Amino acid sequence: MAGANSEIDTTRLTPRIGEMKDLIESFSHCPVCHGHLHFIHITDFSTNLTHETAKCPECGTQHRSVLHKLQ
Ligand SMILES: [Zn+2]
Repeated sequence: MAGANSEIDTTRLTPRIGEMKDLIESFSHCPVCHGHLHFIHITDFSTNLTHETAKCPECGTQHRSVLHKLQ
């Protein structure tokens, strides 16, 4: 019974990577001009936080967010 459980876990992990890629794709366009956003990720290892900056080269719109602890 325990073996069946771990089998389900493995199959659920695999499509998750593809879904995340799709999410990033749909999030990678500027809400103002629909230009292609450029993402920069900087991880501060002293605080263990990842800072994400999305910048649109077309209109200069910039979004900043802090992604909490990766681990
Ligand atoms: Zn833009």
